[in-house]
Amino acid sequence: MDRGWAINVGGGFHHCSSDKGGGFCAYADITLAIKFLFERVEGVARATIIDLDAHQGNGHERDFQEDRRVYIMDVYNRHIYPGDGYAKRAIKRKVELEWGTEDMEYLQKVELHSEGALNEIRPDIIIYNAGTDILDGDPLGGLAISPQGIIKRDEIIFRAARRRGIPILMVTSGGYQKKTARIIADSILNLHRQGLIGEEAVEGAGPSHAPLMMKIPSLRSTQEK
Ligand SMILES: [Zn+2]
Repeated sequence: MDRGWAINVGGGFHHCSSDKGGGFCAYADITLAIKFLFERVEGVARATIIDLDAHQGNGHERDFQEDRRVYIMDVYNRHIYPGDGYAKRAIKRKVELEWGTEDMEYLQKVELHSEGALNEIRPDIIIYNAGTDILDGDPLGGLAISPQGIIKRDEIIFRAARRRGIPILMVTSGGYQKKTARIIADSILNLHRQGLIGEEAVEGAGPSHAPLMMKIPSLRSTQEK
C-alpha cells in the first residue's frame, strides 16, 4: 500500500484560475500542481480534488471544466463568495451548505461524499484543499465547525486516501482567525499520531523546506501496484 503524502501549509489558492486571480489568490497552485504531475510524472493520469474550504473553489473548477481527467468534489457555504455558476458546472460532487452548519451534519456529509467520490473514480492523486475558514466565528466562512471537527475532517480524508493507497497532497487554503494556525498544527500532529503521516517523512526537510513536509515515494511504483 502506498503511503505518499505531502502537506504545504502555504498553499490552496483555489479562486485563481490559469488566466485570472481572485479572492486573495494570485496564482493557481492547484492547477499548476495537477498539470505538472500530468505532464511530468509517469503514472499520474487522473486526479481528484477534494475542496473543503468554506468557499467554492472556482479557480481550479474553471481550469478543469473540460478535463475529464480531473474529478472535483466541493463542499462550501452556498451563500458566500464567489457564487460562480459557470465554474459549478465542473463539480462532479457538489455539497452546498447553509449558514452556521455544525460538526455533526458537516462531518457526515464530508465522509459520505468523499467515500462516494473516491469509490466512483479511483484517482492517482488526491489534492485536498483543507481550508480552516469553516471554523466557528470565521468572519468570511459563515459556518460553525469546532476545532475538533476540523481535526476529525482532516483525519477522515487522510484515512480515505490511506485505505485506498492513493497519494494525497494537502494545502491549507483559507482561515481568517489567528487561532486557525494552532488548529492546523494540532490537526497535523493528530494525523501523525494516527499513523496517517510518518515521522520518517520530515527527515531531510532542512530550513529551505520549512513550509513543506512531504513523503512522496515514486509515483511510478504506485502505478505498478
Ligand atoms: Zn475560503
